[in-house]
Amino acid sequence: EIDEPSQTLVDMIDDAVRRFRRRTALEFFGAETSYRELGEQIASAAEGLRRLGVRAGDRVALVLPNCPQHVVAFYAVLRLGAIVVEHNPLYTPPELRHQFEDHGARVAIVWNSVADTVAEFPSDIRPEHIVAVDLTRALPFGKRMALRLPIPKARRSRAALTTTPRARGLVDWEHLTSRRALARRHPRPTLDDTAVLQYTSGTTGSPKGAVLSHRNLRANAMQGRAWVPGLVEGEEVFYAVLPLFHAYGMTLCLTFAMSIGARLVLFPKFDSGLVLDAARHSPPTFLPAVPPIYDQLVRAAVRQPRALRSIRFAISGAMSLPIATVDRWESATGGLLVEGYGMTESSPVALGNPMGPTRRPGTVGVPFPSTDIRVVDPDDPEVDRPVGEPGELLVRGPQVFQGYWRRPAETTETLLPGGWLRTGDIVRVSEDGFVTIVDRVKELIITGGFNVSPSEVEAALLAHPDVRGAAVVGLPRGSGGEAVAAGVELREGAVFDEAALREFCRTSLTPYKVPRRIEPFDELPRSLIGKVLRRQVRDVLLDRAA
Ligand code: ATP
Ligand code: MG
Repeated sequence: EIDEPSQTLVDMIDDAVRRFRRRTALEFFGAETSYRELGEQIASAAEGLRRLGVRAGDRVALVLPNCPQHVVAFYAVLRLGAIVVEHNPLYTPPELRHQFEDHGARVAIVWNSVADTVAEFPSDIRPEHIVAVDLTRALPFGKRMALRLPIPKARRSRAALTTTPRARGLVDWEHLTSRRALARRHPRPTLDDTAVLQYTSGTTGSPKGAVLSHRNLRANAMQGRAWVPGLVEGEEVFYAVLPLFHAYGMTLCLTFAMSIGARLVLFPKFDSGLVLDAARHSPPTFLPAVPPIYDQLVRAAVRQPRALRSIRFAISGAMSLPIATVDRWESATGGLLVEGYGMTESSPVALGNPMGPTRRPGTVGVPFPSTDIRVVDPDDPEVDRPVGEPGELLVRGPQVFQGYWRRPAETTETLLPGGWLRTGDIVRVSEDGFVTIVDRVKELIITGGFNVSPSEVEAALLAHPDVRGAAVVGLPRGSGGEAVAAGVELREGAVFDEAALREFCRTSLTPYKVPRRIEPFDELPRSLIGKVLRRQVRDVLLDRAA
């Protein structure tokens, strides 16, 4: 169990600034910001935002890759009692417009490559002020390549701004932060105030804004602390290769690192070369990431076997972690790689494997401290399933969100009486309490009579030596119900043979689970953090059939 949170995220950062003053808080391509400097920058950015009219409860949009300004902006907005709204800075103009329309932010703090896009929103959506951050200023010249991010074409074609920035309500970051500090007596947020509006990944539908309070986010950082007891305050080096604009990076990199006085090394994108470079100067000790990142790092480090040996703890989440990845990582680093589970709606972590010999690869572990779970009938969440039987996972704890932003119907559906969060995931729990994720409720394939779990079929396909990636979905069938269909990515040099793949599946799957259709993909569609997007695979397959 953890104690009741007593500090907001603002109290927490102030406390860290006091306790760890001289230590490095942030590192970005070798440039370091101490906790004291971070505190000062937050106070002046907060004053700059206050002068732009930001008040408690206002939404302030952040559209930034990982960079020091992202961290400063995050805490400056919170200091005013305003709400941080995070965005993927690589979204297309329509995707961003959709989110701005939803949250109605009054001010946006954006990477300059997004400034034009936001400035050109229709006047009822456009924020009153846009603060543009020029990241190249913070970067040594030789490192600018690191900013070559895959910016959507629709944004690149835009002409440069023609009018002067000030005239269009554009302010540059340097100007915003040149102010003196916000007055100390300025009112502070309380634990139950909303801190962040965090959009879900949009894997199963359009992204929904999850309302997370200071209490939610503070609790999850405390739960994380209890989870990884070997961490030493003021001594750790966290690598933020995950985006801070996603719930996973926001909590496990940002707020967690700050709460224990760690050095947070920021990467605007994941690139194994950048990580290995940084590791020479600041050896990492803690690395939250996703399975493809662990695999790439191990491959990249073959010729520098010592490069990753400082990493004692690695945490994987967001998608299932193959046991082979664990073995490769642990033998390359000598540290632990354990799997956890969470969702945006739970700040995000809800379950985790013990950090030690009792962890169980292949499972997502046990409930976090102060977290309760139930496994219920997905069609009737009042009815609990017997131990060992699959059912929908419900989660309750201090990290469970306050509801979806302006979506009362979805909130009622997801947040049940008694504080239970419906996860939409089908799980199985062992006698001794370890949880295995089976699939998402929404992605189960209803073939008529039997439900097929797409991950089971994907596992069967992935066992074939030619198959590198697989996504299994249900397609509508004339007779009602759905037919099992698959998209596969082949290894280099392999030749696609649908009949042979189907034959191969028959050796491990009963006939109704064997895909009726299998189609080759050069690359399966993946989300920014690498989840295969079954929904998009389904759209492609429907398209190809039409
Ligand atoms: P949306 O809710 O918009 O459809 P999303 O659910 O992918 O998108 P997130 O909140 O980022 O958005 O992801 C949470 C989901 O990620 C969980 O519901 C679960 O399906 C999946 N997930 C998280 N951790 C794991 C894990 N360790 N193994 C398998 N799946 C996981
Ligand atoms: Mg979800």
